[in-house]
Amino acid sequence: MKIGIVGGGISGLTTAFYLNKKGYDCTVFEKNDIAGGCISTDHIDGRIFENGPNSLLFSSKHIQFIEEVGFKDQLIEAEEVNKDRYILKNGKYHVLPSGPQNFFTNKFFSGKTKWKIMTEYFRKNTPVEETETVYDFFLRRFNQEICDYALDPFVSGIYAGDPGKLAIKASFPSLYEAEKNYGSIIKGMIKKKKENKNSGSTTERRTAYSFKNGNFSFVQKLINQLNVKTGFEVASIEKQKDKFIIENSQEKFEFDQVIIASDAFSSINILKKITPNVAHQLEQIPSPPMCVVHSVYSKEAVKNAPVGFGGLNPKLENSFTSGSIWTSCIFPNRTNAKESMITTFVGGMQNIDKTELPEEIIKENVAKELKTTLNISYPPIYQKVFKWDKAIPQYTKEILDLWEAIKSERLEGLHFTTNWSGGIAVPDCIDQAIKLTENFEALNS
Ligand SMILES: Cc1cc2nc3c(=O)[nH]c(=O)nc-3n(C[C@H](O)[C@H](O)[C@H](O)COP(=O)(O)OP(=O)(O)OC[C@H]3O[C@@H](n4cnc5c(N)ncnc54)[C@H](O)[C@@H]3O)c2cc1C
Repeated sequence: MKIGIVGGGISGLTTAFYLNKKGYDCTVFEKNDIAGGCISTDHIDGRIFENGPNSLLFSSKHIQFIEEVGFKDQLIEAEEVNKDRYILKNGKYHVLPSGPQNFFTNKFFSGKTKWKIMTEYFRKNTPVEETETVYDFFLRRFNQEICDYALDPFVSGIYAGDPGKLAIKASFPSLYEAEKNYGSIIKGMIKKKKENKNSGSTTERRTAYSFKNGNFSFVQKLINQLNVKTGFEVASIEKQKDKFIIENSQEKFEFDQVIIASDAFSSINILKKITPNVAHQLEQIPSPPMCVVHSVYSKEAVKNAPVGFGGLNPKLENSFTSGSIWTSCIFPNRTNAKESMITTFVGGMQNIDKTELPEEIIKENVAKELKTTLNISYPPIYQKVFKWDKAIPQYTKEILDLWEAIKSERLEGLHFTTNWSGGIAVPDCIDQAIKLTENFEALNS
């Protein structure tokens, strides 16, 4: 059976890898000259710069995938300090409690907020709309301080999003389900853990990883084993009798089945002919721009900076950046031993206008802010800006309608595995692709 896969990011490549293993004849179409999508690494003067994902939270299932691809020896685990996450408050970074062991001694949250967290277990839930926003959900379950100083920075960090716009059901389904099924987030989590234990499936803790030569090296290893047609922008997909036609302005290909693995924005046009309602719903999903700014310092310059995974900046702090990953703390091989790299994020849903500034201004503002918030004593040796025009699809209430349209308009032989159909993190994309390939025969019977 011939299968056409649109999009050569991790979703499309993982799908092709497992379907090939099952004996299907897969062709991946990628519009850019280099596949990988959001996974993009630059090597400049011996330094390794991640333009997209930096750290990947893998479980044993993902490690098994990497082993099957033949790349396990290239995995690197994040340094232990990655467990310390910081939040900016009154212009200074404060470490968050890392778990119950230091929840009471840590001074980041007020006593009132700690009480709200402790009593969430007993708080009754009230029936609300399925489209409730993440912000309203957290305000209802906790309080304003949690919304401002935990939720807001984390939503910026994960989704580059606005908690007042994302839907809890779509963005954090496990929290939504916990409250719905058990009446409380904490109760739900405890019960789920117990249920898993009783059924013999333990809840596995994930670990942060990358690859020795950057995340793109893994993509390259995958590409080498697959049939990837780069520089081919799929213009449309049509169904003629029992075949699908994938075409651009010059060429046409015929397939038995088609898998959509392209990003949200680009998929609108591709889907207009074949499934217009899905295309229409996709038009409602924003993907805001984001600049990834790398700053390299001498080790001496950052000797007084805090150590950890990185720091996130709540909107209330009025900072220029949404936060930074202290890259060299977690993956020291990104530069030579005398240097230190910090990766900063500018933009996202709440700061679109900042991404439109000239690159030099962005660099200047980032350096200025890092200097004061991280106690940096000298200017950066080198800076680099990478701009994503459409960074991360937003899981707003409209995405629930999109998922409904995908389900109800199901066209035989057309499948979806994307970062807008079931989780945006790289491991989520891998999980979705594996699930699709495992169920592939059942879906077609
Ligand atoms: C700045 C940034 C930081 C991130 N950080 C993290 C992180 O630290 N950890 C984490 O787990 N995740 C992170 N993510 C999210 C994660 O990287 C992405 O959600 C994931 O890589 C998406 O993979 P994908 O294959 O679904 O889509 P994409 O990577 O978007 O790939 C889709 C591909 O489809 C191609 N395409 C589109 N239209 C066409 C067409 N018409 N014809 C042919 N090809 C087409 C595109 O060119 C693209 O290559 C980050 C994302 C960004 C942008």
